[in-house]
Order: sequence, then structure tokens, then C-alpha cells
Amino acid sequence: MPTCASPSFTTRKRWVIGNWKMNPNLAAAKSLAQALITQLSAMPIQQCQLAIAPTHLHLITISSLIQHTSTPQKIQLVAQDVATHRHTGAFTGDISADLLIDAGTQWVIVGHSERRTLHHEDEALIELKLRAALDAGLGVIWCVGETLSERESEQAAAVVTAQITAHTELLSIIDPQKFILAYEPVWAIGTGRTASPEDAQQMHATIRQVLSHIRPALNETSLLYGGSVKSDNARLLAQCPDIDGALVGGAALDADSFLQIAQAFDIA
Ligand code: PEP
Repeated sequence: MPTCASPSFTTRKRWVIGNWKMNPNLAAAKSLAQALITQLSAMPIQQCQLAIAPTHLHLITISSLIQHTSTPQKIQLVAQDVATHRHTGAFTGDISADLLIDAGTQWVIVGHSERRTLHHEDEALIELKLRAALDAGLGVIWCVGETLSERESEQAAAVVTAQITAHTELLSIIDPQKFILAYEPVWAIGTGRTASPEDAQQMHATIRQVLSHIRPALNETSLLYGGSVKSDNARLLAQCPDIDGALVGGAALDADSFLQIAQAFDIA
């Protein structure tokens, strides 16, 4: 039952990014990364860039596993959070963007709903983290999304638009190569409920309009959908013209299902 038109030609890059959250222990993280590396070496994924976000604690180990392959560019490394201060310093428990780069990281997730909710991160703090990451040279995977009550009261588009336009000044100077936006409806994260392809497409089209309005160059931003993406719903989402990939939580903890999602998005 196709629900979105086939994607039209675009130069936008496709991404499938696994957010491992506070999940595998070291041994399991290494074997998951190794399984991805091994299977990818025999798999012709060409149009879709893969990336994984292990815990901070495992970044150096996973980075070295990836770097010791013949095709390290096939999997990029993402951190799950970053400090507001870019350099080293007296900030107990924090990890700066410079240290993340030192550990082999290329990207960082900022604004994830779990951090907005559980750590009370607001737009001001998110802005500081975005700027610290970008100043250091990291790319940002910037998450936005509405809660269930906001969707049910038909506020979803307004909420997501406000989350983006709170950072208009930054967006007007951001390097488009270092910026990926992920739409993650909060009610769909880790719940098994996915936005329908039509609802996700509609929000992605709105986001694309908002970004283009701020700056035409941002029309080419890769927009990822996140929220209970699985191998069995990825194909329909991938057919939507404004969905350029997926940010995947639970299903990224299994190499087979993660790679099946990547295959679904591996279309020109
Ligand atoms: C996420 O945490 O970014 C996410 C999308 O999780 P899940 O796929 O488990 O819903």
C-alpha cells in the first residue's frame, strides 16, 4: 500500500543513523559494531550513509574498530550529547566537542527529546550546545518534535516550527554540510507507534519550507524521520519525497534490522 509518491530527484544525502542510547555494554557494543562492519563489507549500500551513536564511554573503542577496516568512511561516528563549552576545562562530568573529535567523532545529536524531557534542556541550552559543536567542527544531528498532547491539540506544526525558528540566527550562518535535522515526534520514540508516512511527510514538507524561508541553501538539508522506525515500516517512509533517512533507536541494536532499514533508504 504505497502512501507517499516516489522521491523526486534530489542532491540531498540519505542517512540512516543508529542511536544506541545507554545500551550495549562494551562487549556487546564491540560485537554489534563488528557485525555491522562485516555485513557492510559484503553489502552494496551506495546512496545511504550510515552512522552510529554509541555511549561516550565506547566512542574510542568503536572508532578504532571502524578505522581498522578498509572502508572506514562507510560508518560515521556520532556522540549522543556534547558540553556547552567547546574546549577542556573544569566541568566535572561533561565531554566537550574538542574531546569528542579527539575520540574520532564526526557528529553529535543535539536536542533529543529524552534530553529535553529528562534533563530539562531548553532552546537556550540547545543553542549553546549547537554552537559549541559547530565551532569545534562537529556536524550536528538536531532533533525536533512534538508531544502527543501537542499533536492531539493540532499544535504539532507550530511547536516544531518554533523549535526551529528559535535558532534562526544560527541557521542563517550554519554550514549546510554540518547540519542534519531529525523530526522525532516524542510520542513515537521507543513506543512502537510510528507516524504514518503521510503525517511524517507533511511535517517534513513544513520543516523544509521553514528552513528554506530562513535561507534558501537550507532547502538541501537532509531531513530524517525518527520514532519506532523498523525494517517493516522503513520502506514506506523512504518513499516519501521529503524524508531523507532515519534516526533509529531500538532497531539499531540489531545489525540485521539496522542494515535492512539502511537498504530501504538506499535509493537514489
Ligand atoms: C530515538 O531515540 O532517536 C528513536 C528514534 O528511538 P526509537 O527508534 O526506539 O523510537
